[in-house]
Amino acid sequence: MEIIMPNVAPFMKHCLIGGKEVAAENGKMIALTSPSNGEKIADIAAGGAIEIDKAVLAARAAFDSGDWSRLSAMERGRLLHSLSVKICDHAEELAKLEAMDTGKPYSQAQADVAAAARYFEFYGAAADKVHGETIPFMNGFQVQTIREPFGVTAHIIPWNYPAQMFGRSCAPALAMGNAIVLKPAEEACLTPLRIADLAMEVGFPKGSVNVVTGLGEIAGAALTTHPGVNFISFTGSPEVGVAIQTAAAINHVGCTLELGGKSPQLVFEDADLDAAIPVLLNAIVQNGGQTCSAGSRALIQRNIFEEVVDQLKVGFEQLIAAPWSEDAHLGALISAQQKERVEKFIAAAGDESAPLIARGKLSENAVDTGHYVAPALFAPVAENHLLAKEEVFGPVLSCIPFEDEADAVRIANDTDYGLVASVWSSDGGRQMRIAKILRCGQVFLNVYGAGGGIELPFGGVRKSGHGREKGFAALHEFSQLKTIVQNHG
Ligand code: NAP
Ligand code: MG
Repeated sequence: MEIIMPNVAPFMKHCLIGGKEVAAENGKMIALTSPSNGEKIADIAAGGAIEIDKAVLAARAAFDSGDWSRLSAMERGRLLHSLSVKICDHAEELAKLEAMDTGKPYSQAQADVAAAARYFEFYGAAADKVHGETIPFMNGFQVQTIREPFGVTAHIIPWNYPAQMFGRSCAPALAMGNAIVLKPAEEACLTPLRIADLAMEVGFPKGSVNVVTGLGEIAGAALTTHPGVNFISFTGSPEVGVAIQTAAAINHVGCTLELGGKSPQLVFEDADLDAAIPVLLNAIVQNGGQTCSAGSRALIQRNIFEEVVDQLKVGFEQLIAAPWSEDAHLGALISAQQKERVEKFIAAAGDESAPLIARGKLSENAVDTGHYVAPALFAPVAENHLLAKEEVFGPVLSCIPFEDEADAVRIANDTDYGLVASVWSSDGGRQMRIAKILRCGQVFLNVYGAGGGIELPFGGVRKSGHGREKGFAALHEFSQLKTIVQNHG
């Protein structure tokens, strides 16, 4: 595929507050560099407590004045739908921005932009379909429940899928009538800034959508501790998740936490391997493994272990990491720091407790100034090995053998995380028995859904977090129930 390089970089982006571009008062900017080659692509504002305060006040004003909150659900839905269409109109520009900013292959960026549009389409259509209930009570009374927005919601998202995360976190909050303040990750925030501009263009009231860029420990911390925030949605690491939940507790507000995972795929002797193998590969290579729901553990029944590992080896040896414009299997990782983290995991393995079976390749255009890591396959990985326990957040697959159904479930659940799992088997009873006892938020049967499925409630248990995003569940998370009791005599 020939890709024309966009003529957009380097450029400057300020925060979006109250419908206007606002520079950081301290005048500081953060240089964004391309993960593909280390070149500077943009300067963004290093927002801080002052910009966060302005943004929360702007959101509060949009909410309290009624400019935003008094729109009917149908009108809000139409605005979300218009934004979805606008994102599709700008799909090529947004996909190039996303690919440059994150280093991901161009077709992955295109899919991500399509997903961002789909979030606004789904939640635009859902905005006027959230019903309350009437509740039978004592004679002479009428009881009903209604769902109300919280007011100002805060959204902190990571760098791995900035466009999709904008849709996932913000679209349902807006559909329910909240005014939002978003703090994207400083490593990758260009598509959230651009989509927020597009929201203004399609007529979202000033202050209903605000974006403050800056460092997590400064802008992010100022947002999550701000007393004017009524709910927090966070996606990121478990460590920062603890800080977010602590801040939420101090201000007596709720939060959803989407933290990482160590998601297993269970492959049984009766599985359709032709169907399973490509999915096992893709689930760890997609986005360079920098996916919270990456399928990072392949649990394989012992009598087919060698056969499956041999097939995975063939697949891994063909994988190529390349600049985004080459549109290979994976791109560069997000940063030098992330590359170093992943390489440390790889270097710490390779002995008899986790033999290295195969590595992918780097493209000849994968320059040293980019953050490329060749995918790595390890098998058999000992159950208590670091690679069986810790989230790598890179293209590293650990294969672990199991004996039978009980053993597979024991190993699958032997993790602090619990986000996604899959079962590959032709035995329907086994699929459902296992689905019911896996400790996680989503189970796929003969398929794996890293990332996809806007209609499907998604979220974790234990160290993977709590609360549900996507689907109608997110509309409930971003609203609160009010019960109205009338004594009509
Ligand atoms: P991170 O450090 O937790 O960052 C996530 C976001 O939080 C960024 O916007 C970051 O800002 C901000 N942040 C950092 N410190 C903060 C603080 N003290 N207060 C408020 N906000 C703060 O995560 P990461 O290492 O960049 O991203 C990878 C992690 O996210 C992995 O562990 C992965 O599993 C997880 N993740 C989970 C999901 C999911 O859906 N479950 C999805 C994607 C990623 P800056 O980056 O600008 O400092
Ligand atoms: Mg970070």
